[in-house]
Amino acid sequence: MKKRNFIVIVVVVAALIFPIRQAAINLFAEKSEPILADKIDDGEDLDTNVNIDDIPLYDNNIEEVEDMTDYLLDTTFVDDSGKLILKNTDDILVLVNKRRNLPSDYKPSDLVIPDVKFSFDDIIDKRHLRKEAAHALEDMFREADNQNVILYGVSGYRSYNTQNYLFENKVSKVGEEEANLLVARPGQSEHQTGLAMDISSKSANFSLIEDFGQTTEGQWVNENAHRFGFIIRYKRDTTDITGYSFEPWHIRYVGVEVATEIYERNITLEEFLGDA
Ligand SMILES: [Zn+2]
Repeated sequence: MKKRNFIVIVVVVAALIFPIRQAAINLFAEKSEPILADKIDDGEDLDTNVNIDDIPLYDNNIEEVEDMTDYLLDTTFVDDSGKLILKNTDDILVLVNKRRNLPSDYKPSDLVIPDVKFSFDDIIDKRHLRKEAAHALEDMFREADNQNVILYGVSGYRSYNTQNYLFENKVSKVGEEEANLLVARPGQSEHQTGLAMDISSKSANFSLIEDFGQTTEGQWVNENAHRFGFIIRYKRDTTDITGYSFEPWHIRYVGVEVATEIYERNITLEEFLGDA
């Protein structure tokens, strides 16, 4: 082959390869980069399309219930305004109450929608729980259902901002003192942990009312929730310890071992963890 012909072939091949390579780069960039960017930038949106069975379980179960006296050590820090802010926010036993605040920017990273009946149709924040609690709720509702006890989810995860809105709204209606007993201040609601669900029944008009505790469904929950890792968080006559009124509808996931011990000893989470 003459040298000149060889150079022409090299130039032609190079001219062909360059646009192909560039097109490939463009194609790859268009297909992958925006998706990646969405995932990073989209922290505020809840992923509603995840099959919870595909996600590994959070490895934070307390295997044995032993001496819990040191459990709360180093779980908080004091912020500029003197408030206790929680550090162990992702812990299954995280203790949120009127002394112990969640950071305003805390949002669980593993929120999913449990496959249970709800009292509403919308796909919104309050349908979500953290995956381990969601699995447990599914198991509990399924077994209740098998015994003709039909439970409905009413309100699960709630963001700091939503809680802020609810509290301010209540203050404007009944004043701050009264509101403080009825609605958690932002950062002080267990619903922000993604480990609490308010539940109800048709017999209680799907409402969050004390009478739910007297219904067949409410009694079933009271007697069985611990077997699935849930406690009735605000029991009757424990306001001086928990800071909240009796709420037979509010269940909190803590894992089966801890829930069973709290149920059998008939104590609050504060007492169990030594915060009372
Ligand atoms: Zn609640």
